[in-house]
Amino acid sequence: MARIAILLQERCHPKECRWECQAYCPPVRMGQECIVEGPLGKPVISETLCIGCGICVHKCPFDAIKILNTPEADEREIVHRYGYNGFRLYRLPQPPTTGITGLLGPNGTGKSTALRVLAGAEVPNLGDYAGAADWAKVLARFRGTALHEHFEKVARGELRTALKPQYVDRLAETDRTVGEQVGDGPAAIAAQERLGLREVAGTPLRELSGGQLQLVAIARTLATDADLYLFDEPSSYLDIVHRLRVARVLRELGATKSVVVVEHDLALLDYLADQAHLLYGEPAAFGVITHPLAMRTAINTYLTGYLKDENVRFRSEPVRFVAHPPRPASRPGALVRFAPLAKRFPSFALATGAGEIAKGETIGVVGPNATGKTTFVRMLAGVEPPTEGAPPPGVSVSYKPQYLKANQPWNLRDRSAALAGDPSFDARTFERELVPGLHLEEVLDVALPDLSGGELQRAAVALALARPATLYLLDEPSAYLDADERMAMARLVRRQVERQAASALVVDHDVYFLDLACDALVVFRHPDGDLARGLGDGPFPMRDGMNRLLQEVGVTFRRDAETLRPRINREGSVLDREQRAKGEYYYDVPA
Ligand code: ADP
Ligand code: ADP
Repeated sequence: MARIAILLQERCHPKECRWECQAYCPPVRMGQECIVEGPLGKPVISETLCIGCGICVHKCPFDAIKILNTPEADEREIVHRYGYNGFRLYRLPQPPTTGITGLLGPNGTGKSTALRVLAGAEVPNLGDYAGAADWAKVLARFRGTALHEHFEKVARGELRTALKPQYVDRLAETDRTVGEQVGDGPAAIAAQERLGLREVAGTPLRELSGGQLQLVAIARTLATDADLYLFDEPSSYLDIVHRLRVARVLRELGATKSVVVVEHDLALLDYLADQAHLLYGEPAAFGVITHPLAMRTAINTYLTGYLKDENVRFRSEPVRFVAHPPRPASRPGALVRFAPLAKRFPSFALATGAGEIAKGETIGVVGPNATGKTTFVRMLAGVEPPTEGAPPPGVSVSYKPQYLKANQPWNLRDRSAALAGDPSFDARTFERELVPGLHLEEVLDVALPDLSGGELQRAAVALALARPATLYLLDEPSAYLDADERMAMARLVRRQVERQAASALVVDHDVYFLDLACDALVVFRHPDGDLARGLGDGPFPMRDGMNRLLQEVGVTFRRDAETLRPRINREGSVLDREQRAKGEYYYDVPA
């Protein structure tokens, strides 16, 4: 067992505090140099002198310190360590010469680091963070393992790798067009065609949506002639149609090449990859990569939360699915009724039908990108005036927009203190239910601009759910979350809506999230395939809604015998053909 002390560098502001970590540290008070000022003017915490009391963790006004024990990992298995009080990664994935390997684990446990190490973009320091990068040491360490040959090639500069980075937003900051970014060779043209980018080849990147930028980044990676292809979260910003299209393209690539994919959409990863390594550990502190597991076992193990081989439990409760659609709520009087709405933009016209939502219901809003889902929700929220119709009168709403701004200097603790006593904020629910339910305890003192994308998302949803309302409107609450956080979010939204006898509309693309959170679906599409128009209908009961959505998308799902989780059928498989013939795309069980 090793004790590790982590200083989250970006959260530590040593000029804005009173060095509480040092002032209250019992060993320091006994005269030991357990916490000293380092060369960068920030504290350095000695892992040998630390007694693990946790006082510095609680006293730090910026939540910048983590102290924990790592019973699971063997220090000799450290592959990379970012500095003395920095994150450590144990072990690496082993990509075979062909096929797709998935990496599945919480945010901050080292997936991107592992990709960079495999690609040779980061020379692994094997724990010796102070030493110079040295391939000879790396080769010596991996001698006799499957990774030796890999690193030999990397060290000699012979392994050609292509990496699709996690964040694609930055592409929009350049002056290039889509064609210039992806290239104009035959492979680049083919990749653009496969991903539907030819029509926008001449468009500057700064004019693209997030989903289009993602496709550009994927196309560029596909167009690179490489031996190893690495994709870091290819599904972000993509709708269900595009997620599946990308999955098919990557599977074709995997038939002849080695591909590693980090992905949090479990239905997609399941369909995409042949095998996966799970990661467990403590976010931002350490991450351990498991041996590869066959895809079905990998996801089932992940959902169960217990890794038998290593005797590690990484979640207290298994995630359970049910194979049957939820029973429609008894509807003596709907809670919210909305009338048909229309919105006309210069180049897009949206129409939505009338619908109603019962007390306690969470309704998913699904469909391809640019069919008007966000506009619909914005109209109901009262931030976008409809061209025709009006949002339901007298219905109080609480709205979490799709894109979040983190420019306010406050943190969650100050915010909830400032709102305490305000009737439009339920401080009790916030503190007792939402903060623990969304695992926000650790970031209560962190200023908004210092939060990661996933932390900001959880904070925004918690603040939205803490406002008493009849209708909660949540636009893409699963964006930037890891698979665990998505499932926790799904359960929490559902529970809060039921408990408060309120209702919710949730725009999302992740099928597992929708399955766990929703009672019914509003389905958006382009009528007659006309991209200049959007049509929203429903809510439909889950079975009907899923059938409408998936028929449009062209996929069927079966259920896993062990966990009852939905799994995408292989196109043209017996089940796929049978279910299509019956028109049962999602729930192939008697209701
Ligand atoms: P994941 O991809 O699983 O979210 P990452 O590999 O991006 O995880 O990061 C794991 C942890 O390593 C992060 O929480 C961060 O604290 C730390 N980290 C990542 N890159 C660096 C770096 N260049 N310098 C110092 N710490 C880093
Ligand atoms: P979705 O949420 O389904 O992706 P959106 O509601 O965001 O769809 O957008 C639907 C269409 O409406 C898009 O083609 C978008 O360009 C257009 N649109 C959205 N907001 C505006 C606006 N303020 N002005 C002009 N067009 C807009």
